[in-house]
Amino acid sequence: MTIKNHIVMMGPPGSGKGTQAQILQARLGIPTYSVGEMLRRVSAEDTELGRKVKALIDKGSLVPDEVSSEIVAHTMKTRDVHEKGFILDGFPRSLGQAEALTRILEEEGLSLDVVLLLEVPDNFIEERIIGRYACARCGSMYHGKFNPPKAGDACDVCGGKEFVRRADDNLETVQKRLEIYRAVTMPVIPYYEEKGLLVSVDGSGPINVVSEKIKKVVGG
Ligand code: AMP
Repeated sequence: MTIKNHIVMMGPPGSGKGTQAQILQARLGIPTYSVGEMLRRVSAEDTELGRKVKALIDKGSLVPDEVSSEIVAHTMKTRDVHEKGFILDGFPRSLGQAEALTRILEEEGLSLDVVLLLEVPDNFIEERIIGRYACARCGSMYHGKFNPPKAGDACDVCGGKEFVRRADDNLETVQKRLEIYRAVTMPVIPYYEEKGLLVSVDGSGPINVVSEKIKKVVGG
């Protein structure tokens, strides 16, 4: 089976998109582009756009479609997506973004191989989000209960000893992000179903069980 390497990762906040994208990237060398991560970098800039993006992320809202679509268009133009493929984590999150992505890829002569939808029941999401943190140096993701670093207090990947939690990973913002997922992002699911691209994966099990399921879909 040929490897699918033009991939969109969808799913509610806390469904494991970033974690599974990281695993796919390590296994197959397909670069991951996390739009949330790119927006967090924009939000750290002391500019008008940076301040606007920060305010939206901190309250759990989506940034305007034009902003996230522009980031993805720039990524597709400037990165080696033709040779290496891509995993888009967290984009599209609205129908407008899905349509923008179709146009962006067409302009580059590219198309998607698969849209992976990680499905996780609502009652799992809070615990997953509240317990998660990342290495401050390399960004590798961990969870206090489900995926702590093997060494206990040092990052498995780079040995870093400083960890950070996301400012938007709190109970109040999680509820808002879930509401937005249901209202704005879920309508993207039928868009990709109609194109025959959507594959649902049960994302509720342990990390390695979910990544085995994804392996069956993506190949390699
Ligand atoms: P994530 O890291 O994917 O959970 O994204 C963190 C936050 O970044 C989201 O709650 C949104 O505020 C913003 N964000 C990420 N991706 C998008 C997107 N495709 N469109 C709009 N806002 C986004």
